[in-house]
This record gives sequence, structure tokens and C-alpha cells, in this order.
Amino acid sequence: MSKETFSFQTEVSRLLDIVAGSLYSNREIFLRELISNASDACDKLRHQALTAPSLIEGDSDFKIELSVDAKAKTVTVQDNGIGMNHDDLLATLGTIASSGTGAFIEQLGQDDKKDLGLIGQFGVGFYSAFMVADKVEVTTRKAGEAESWLWTSDGKGEFSIEEASCDARGTTVVLHLKKDAKEFLEPSRITHIVKTYSDHIGFPVMLAGEGDDDGETLNEASAIWTRAAKDISQEQYKEFYHHTAHAFDDPWITIHNRIEGVVSYTNLLFIPSMRPFDLFDPERKSHVKLYVNRVFITEQADGLLPPYLRFLRGVVDSEDLSLNISREMLQTDPKLAKIRNGLVKKVLGELKKKAGKDAGAYAEFWGNFGLVLKEGLVDDFTMRDKLLELARFKSTAADGLTSLADYVSRMKDGQDAIYYIVGEDETHVATSPHLEGFKAKGVEVLLFTDPVDEFWLQHITQFDEKPFKSITRGAADLDGVKADEADDTEEDKQQEDGPGLDTLIAAIKLELGEAVKDVRPSKRLTESPVCLIADEGDMDVSMERLLRRTGQMTMGLPRVLELNPGHAVVKKLSERAGGNGDDDVLKDAAHLLLDQARIAEGEAPTDPAAFAKRLAFVMERAL
Ligand code: ADP
Ligand code: MG
Repeated sequence: MSKETFSFQTEVSRLLDIVAGSLYSNREIFLRELISNASDACDKLRHQALTAPSLIEGDSDFKIELSVDAKAKTVTVQDNGIGMNHDDLLATLGTIASSGTGAFIEQLGQDDKKDLGLIGQFGVGFYSAFMVADKVEVTTRKAGEAESWLWTSDGKGEFSIEEASCDARGTTVVLHLKKDAKEFLEPSRITHIVKTYSDHIGFPVMLAGEGDDDGETLNEASAIWTRAAKDISQEQYKEFYHHTAHAFDDPWITIHNRIEGVVSYTNLLFIPSMRPFDLFDPERKSHVKLYVNRVFITEQADGLLPPYLRFLRGVVDSEDLSLNISREMLQTDPKLAKIRNGLVKKVLGELKKKAGKDAGAYAEFWGNFGLVLKEGLVDDFTMRDKLLELARFKSTAADGLTSLADYVSRMKDGQDAIYYIVGEDETHVATSPHLEGFKAKGVEVLLFTDPVDEFWLQHITQFDEKPFKSITRGAADLDGVKADEADDTEEDKQQEDGPGLDTLIAAIKLELGEAVKDVRPSKRLTESPVCLIADEGDMDVSMERLLRRTGQMTMGLPRVLELNPGHAVVKKLSERAGGNGDDDVLKDAAHLLLDQARIAEGEAPTDPAAFAKRLAFVMERAL
């Protein structure tokens, strides 16, 4: 086959323009990215060789070799990993498969400082080579195949592929250094970079000497998690985290320990300090890599960790799993289930410790990953109590976040439930009329503003033996709660229901008919005249709203309309109702009150045109 020339995908071209056209402070990371790819390639082949040993026959010692040629002004990175064939080259070096990369390129284009440190996270680390090189040659042969290929590009819009001849499998990347990148011809510089960024790589990274000697191994070349924690510096953990997670932030927690038991394993897990961009991918995939006896098996070990811990990064290595276990078998392997159990407990335990030690840092973690962790309240009933302890919520009583235990410790004498309100956004929820009576009595209400809250509340009915109670559903009877001293006057205001109230309620019920389930005097209102609530046993208001918004429900259920007997409007209407049952003003008022309650919840009036007409009429009479 003769030489073929291809254009880079538009996104790649854009990335290359940015990469080549600016000055970077940390362009040395190109070496980290190429070594990382070489290491991945060795991992992949070692895994395939488990079932096809002939692939590595005669050459089973994986290694990554670096060399510099001062005369030719080249740096070379060579591996004996899996290699690439013609199709692989086309699919990987020239196109971008990973989602999220477009946004990264956009942002990079606007950023003056252009920090390419994070390039690896977006599956485009290879292109960082063009920070230091104006020509890159990749010679490669796939394990088990006969043909080899040469991929060449100057990073300016096009690349070419032609047949090559190489006698060994694997990949050799040759960088022709730019004029201003000669510093990377210095062996001491290369050594320093490898020690800084690639020490944790599990294969030897060697630097060839000037002569023909084998060169020296620059890195530790043993899997970092097999070493004792006391021998590993924070810096080394961080570099390993960057490599394995394709991340660029600092790990927030590092959990490195070994379990000896029926099933023995080592885990080196990290919780990122920033949200990974694919956290809410619908697939909810785990990103923790599974190794068996130091051999990489898979990053998609479904049963290894529950989806609600998918923010974890790192590795788990067990010698007790079978090496050639398939992914399907893994899911049902009882040993893996044991490991999973141990890991979940460990991670939740560490979180609890952290929450106790540093509430501020924990609140930040919760801001990043609380939404994901809360999924566990629905998914994993065995861990419910532990997860409830870890959960944090906004509340009417405290700025910031509160735990349920703290809420319970603040409960009033006579208060027998944990009160909450669910809604879409905090400001809206915090001003809801339903809160009035609770505020007046100094009773704290939790503000649940995440969509997932509605779902775990279907499964979990209590904490510390106190039932959860929605303040928008069922009766709100705060009579038993002792009010704060200062609020005594408030209580005195709770006057006796006037004689006309019953008549008023009967008249409103008659007028509104099917539109409401019932009309009742309210104990939760102090300022607003009306509000709507869900009847005890009916679906809560917020759940219904959610279902209607997602199209799973069209008509709302009729609600209970509550009247505030202390409100001037209700008092006046009661007096009027006491005199005459059949009164047009009362009829209009009934509809207006219902619509007003709907509007206060952010809903539209049932019949906007009729509402406008009635409102105009009432104003006219008042004026
Ligand atoms: P990522 O490593 O995140 O996938 P890169 O841009 O670094 O992104 O590499 C793109 C792809 O090119 C890799 O996924 C791999 O398929 C292929 N590749 C790069 N370098 C090598 C190599 N040394 N051996 C085999 N494949 C490689
Ligand atoms: Mg890479």
C-alpha cells in the first residue's frame, strides 16, 4: 500500500493549533503523556496474553525505552506493548473519540496561560507531543500481526500513514524537537521528568546510554500500591492519581490499605477534589481499575464498586480472583462481592472520619459528590444508616449545611418529626408560605432541593426513630411544640375561629367543587391567607410537580386548600359568609384564593383569563 494522506478531524486541528502556537510553562508533561500511553499499551497486551500467550512469546518483559539523539535532535519513546494496526492508527491518532473534549479545547483556546497539564484527562494526551516537536513519527506493529506502519505528521492539519518495516511488536514515537525545545536532549532533564511524573509506572522506564549499553532504569518500576504507605510521598501519590485517573487536581482523600482475609486485596483509592466532567454520565460507570496480582484486568469491573461511589479513582488489586475471569463472570463472583463490601465500608468510614475532623472540607466534598452519594440511599439499603449519617442538608435554622444528627439535637420540646420541604431551588423553597407557622414557632425545616431527595424519601421514613414529615403534605399540628419565649405573643394571636369560618369553608367547597379535595383551616400559616397541601396519603406536591415536568403525569391531583383564620381577608370573608350564603363576592373570592395559593407555589392560575377578570372586578369594587 502506498502512502496515504489524511486530514485531522476539525477538533484535532483546532487543538493542534493551540498546542503548537503558544508558550507553555510546563511543556515537559509531553513525556508523561507518551510514557503513560506506552504503559497503557503494555497493560493491554499483558491482559490479552492471559488468554493468548503466543502474543508475547519470546518477548515477555515489558519495558519502555527512552533515548535522545543530540545530532538528529530527536527524543524517542519506545514500548513493546500492544501496538497499532492501520485501522487503530486511523481511529486514534487523528480523531477524538472522547466526549467532553470539545469543551476542553474551547476553554483552552480562551485561557491565556494555557495549562496543558490536564490534557491527559480528555483522552488527547498524545497531541501534547506537538508542544515540543515540529514533526512526530510513530512506527508501530500490532502484537500478533505481520504488517507495520509509519504514521507521520507535522501537526499542521494533515497526517500520513504508510507501510513500514519493524521486526518487533510495539510502538516507537520519535519527536523531532523544535528549535526552542533542545533542553529535552539533556539526559539529566529527561531523568528528572521521569522521576517527577512517571515514577509510579509499573514497567521499567529506561534511558538508553550513549553507547549500546542497556541503559539505566529511571523509575521505581513496581506498582505503587504494592509498596508500604510509609515509603510513598504525597507527591508520588498525587502523580499516580494523575496518571491513573487522567485527572489534574489534587486527590482530596487517599485511601491506601491492605486487607488480609478470606479474600485478600490492596486498594489505593482517591476521592478527587474536583468534580470529574463525566460524573453524571447516564451509564454511571466505575472508574476504579481492577488488577489481579498486579496484572491489569479492567476498568469496567461492574461489581467492584456501587454506582453511588463512582467518583472514586484508583486501583484495587487482589491475588484471590482468577486471572482470566471474564467481565460477565466478575459481576456474579462472590469474592468480588466480598471485596466490594469491604471497600464500601472502608470508604464510608473514611468519609465519616473526615466529616468529624473538618466540617468545612467535608462540606466541599459534599458539594461535589453529595448528589451521587445520596443515590446510595435508594440503591443500597444495607448502607442506609451510614449514608444518612454522612448526608448534609440545607435548613431554615443554619447557614450552610446541617447533618440529621444536628437537626435532631436542635428539635423543640414536643416536636416529634423531622420536618422538610422539597422544591426545585433554595430561594423559592425558603420563602414558601408553608414555612410560616414553623418559623413562628422556631421549628427547623430541612430544605431539600435535589431531585434525588424526592426518591430516597420514598424509601426512608425515619432517622434516629424520628419520622420524616413533609410540610406540604398532611396536617401540620404544631400545638404540641413549645414555642420560643419570644414568640409567646405570636401564640396569643392565634385567636378562636370566628363563627362564620365554617360557613365560609362550606361556601368555598361548594363553589370550587372538584377543583379541591377539601378546604380546611390552617395551622401552618401566619402571614399568607391560603396555601395548598397534599392530603395525608396522597402524592406530595413536589413529587407531582416532578412527574408532571417529566411528562409522566398530565393532570394534577386535587389538593387541600388551607385557609389562615387569622388573616384579615379570611376574617372579612367569614363575617360576610355569616350573613349571606349565596354571594357573588364569596364565589369570586373562592376562585381567587385557590389561584393565589397556586401562584405562591410558582404555578399558573387554573384559568388565567378568568383569574384576570375576577381580579379586575374585585379591584374595581375595592376602589
Ligand atoms: P488516551 O491515552 O487518553 O486514550 P491519547 O491521546 O494519549 O489518549 O492516546 C490516544 C490513543 O492512541 C490511545 O488510546 C491508544 O489507543 C493510542 N496510542 C497512543 N500511544 C500508543 C502506544 N504507545 N501504543 C499503542 N497505542 C497507543
Ligand atoms: Mg494517553
